[in-house]
Amino acid sequence: MTAAKRNVLMLLIPLVGAFGLSACAGQAPGADRGAKGISPAPAVPGEGPVVIDPGHGGEDTGAVAAGSSESHLVLAVALKLRKALAAQAPGLPVVLTRESDVFVPLKGRMEMANRVGARLFISIHANSGQRLAARGFETYLLSAEATDSEAHRVALAENSVLEREGMAAQDPLFETLLSLASAEQLRQSEELAGAVHLSLAQSLGTENRGVKQAPFYVLARAQMPSVLVEIGFITNKAERDLLFADAYQEKLAQALATSILEFNSRHAAHPQAGDKSRP
Ligand SMILES: [Zn+2]
Repeated sequence: MTAAKRNVLMLLIPLVGAFGLSACAGQAPGADRGAKGISPAPAVPGEGPVVIDPGHGGEDTGAVAAGSSESHLVLAVALKLRKALAAQAPGLPVVLTRESDVFVPLKGRMEMANRVGARLFISIHANSGQRLAARGFETYLLSAEATDSEAHRVALAENSVLEREGMAAQDPLFETLLSLASAEQLRQSEELAGAVHLSLAQSLGTENRGVKQAPFYVLARAQMPSVLVEIGFITNKAERDLLFADAYQEKLAQALATSILEFNSRHAAHPQAGDKSRP
C-alpha cells in the first residue's frame, strides 16, 4: 500500500472521534456568506482559481494574545497575498473564502473551493503556544495521524470552532473522503506544502518548524492540492510584533505568492498569459 493510500484510510477512524462529536441541528449564522461574488464553476476541476482561506473570522477570533487576534492577522496576510499574486500574475484567478471580518463555517470553505474547481487551496493561520517562547512557522498536510503531539494540539485548536458550527449528524464526511481523495491529489498536496515551506524558510529568517501532518477539518474533502500554513506564534511577544507589522506581512505574502506561482507554473493545464513568474 502506498503511503498516500494509507493516509486516506487512516483518516477514517480518528476523524469520527474528532469531528463527530458536535452534531446538532441548524446552520451556523453566516453560512456560505463567504461564497458571495464567486463566479460560476469552470468546466474542468483544477483550472479554477487559487483559493486563499484566511482562517476564522467574525465571532471566531482564533487565537488571541495581548488583545491581538489571529482572525485579523491572517485576513491582512491573505489580502496582501491576493495583491501580490495579482501583481505577479495578473491573469491568474484568485478567490478568498472571506474578504472581511465575517464568520465562515469550516465546512463551507472547502465546499467553495471544490465548487469553483480550485487549482489549489491554501489556508492561512497563526499559532498559539502554551510555551510563550514557542516561535516559527509550520506547513501542514491533511492526515488522520498527527506528526506529533504538538501537531495534534494545533489541529484540535483549529478544529474547535466546529462545536460552534453545529455539524450535521449525518455528515457524509467519511464516504466523500474515500471517494474524493486520490493518491495524486495527496501527492500534489505534499509537493505544494514543500514549495510553500521552502519559500517561507528562504524568506522569513525565523524558526523553521517543518512540514507536518494533522487532521485539519478545513482540508478534508479537498479535490485539489491543499495545505494549511501556521505563519507564526502570536503568543510570542517578539514574533507577534513582527506578525502584525506591515513589512513582515508583506514578506509573508510575497513568499507565499512565489511558491504558489512556482507550483502553478508546473501544474497548470493552461498557464495564465499574465503570469510574470513564467520564463
Ligand atoms: Zn487558526
